[in-house]
Amino acid sequence: MQNRRQFLKSSAAAAAAIAVPTLPSFAQQTKKSTNMSGKMKLTWAAYDLQLNHTFTISGFSRKTTPVVLTKIEYDGLAGYGEASLPPYLGETQASVIDFLKKIDLPAFSDPANMEEILEYVDSIAINNAAAKAAVDIALHDLLGKIIGSPWYKMYGLDKHKAPDTTFTIGIDPDDEVIREKTREALGRFNILKVKVGGPDDKRMIEAIRSVTDLPLAVDANQGWKDKRHALDMIFWLKEKGIVMVEQPMSKYALDDIAWLTEQSPLPIYADESVQRLHDVERLKGAFSGINIKLMKCTGMREAWKMRNFARALGMDVMIGCMTETSCAISAAAQLSPGLDFADLDGALLIGNDCFGGVKLENGKIIASDRPGIGVEPTQKIIFSR
Ligand code: MG
Repeated sequence: MQNRRQFLKSSAAAAAAIAVPTLPSFAQQTKKSTNMSGKMKLTWAAYDLQLNHTFTISGFSRKTTPVVLTKIEYDGLAGYGEASLPPYLGETQASVIDFLKKIDLPAFSDPANMEEILEYVDSIAINNAAAKAAVDIALHDLLGKIIGSPWYKMYGLDKHKAPDTTFTIGIDPDDEVIREKTREALGRFNILKVKVGGPDDKRMIEAIRSVTDLPLAVDANQGWKDKRHALDMIFWLKEKGIVMVEQPMSKYALDDIAWLTEQSPLPIYADESVQRLHDVERLKGAFSGINIKLMKCTGMREAWKMRNFARALGMDVMIGCMTETSCAISAAAQLSPGLDFADLDGALLIGNDCFGGVKLENGKIIASDRPGIGVEPTQKIIFSR
């Protein structure tokens, strides 16, 4: 428990982090854009991602993920974005397109007024986080192209300092399937992620451990119901070389999670417990860190604020993803250097990626040096309104 003085100190530090202007030389660098004429034009394309393997988390399986790709054109340049829509999050291609139709981008004369534009987009509806992210990412891509720089440089980050990305081994009743999936990952990844939280946790871990000693992250997806069982599991996992635990218990069991975090020998990350910036402060003390996902938090603008706020509160930060094309993964990769963990395997799990940009290098997802989020379509995509 932090005392009042510590609280005031951390709140002040956090407020300072948020007040810091994001890009000092921004106005100067974008001066040329203010001289540009023309209007921003937003178009979109619905697209279905084909998953390489049937994806299972706690009793739920699927073979495809619907997405909506976006494009903002301005003065001969185009920025690309994406909304990924796994069914359990409640948004659909129809709801995203409905939302995008409400946005009046031509009302803004300069893409450099990103704070104002994205505040307006956020104000159109309460939810629709993935739809908002699709606009946010495309606008970041466009603005980076106008400025002529990738975002990781504007954030002041060294792209080679990105953490190793985890590669997820899904739940499977057959140990031989788990061993086979693990062997496929060897040599490509330096850390694996295992979905736990069910009755088979120890069997899954033992099956992986019969193949490799690589560090493992585990994600319980709120699956453990009793805090003492969860703590026993965490001590057992620590002995097995697990390095972090994501969302051990229900997001409604914050007191139990706080108790667990206090006793735990491993860092405990919030995922389902955290969506947006306003969620971060109440999680201080209950979790060691937060998992930021662009599709939950409305995009790069808010993700960067969450990262700085969590850091100011003394919390760890990781970045995660849904199944996404290399478009949204490239946006996340711009933010990932300097974070504690990255879970950016989303584009590696699909067979019909339609963007190129990020590369998997020595187990890390590395952003390209192209401006913006660093992506280009690898096939013809028909964008329309
Ligand atoms: Mg998770």
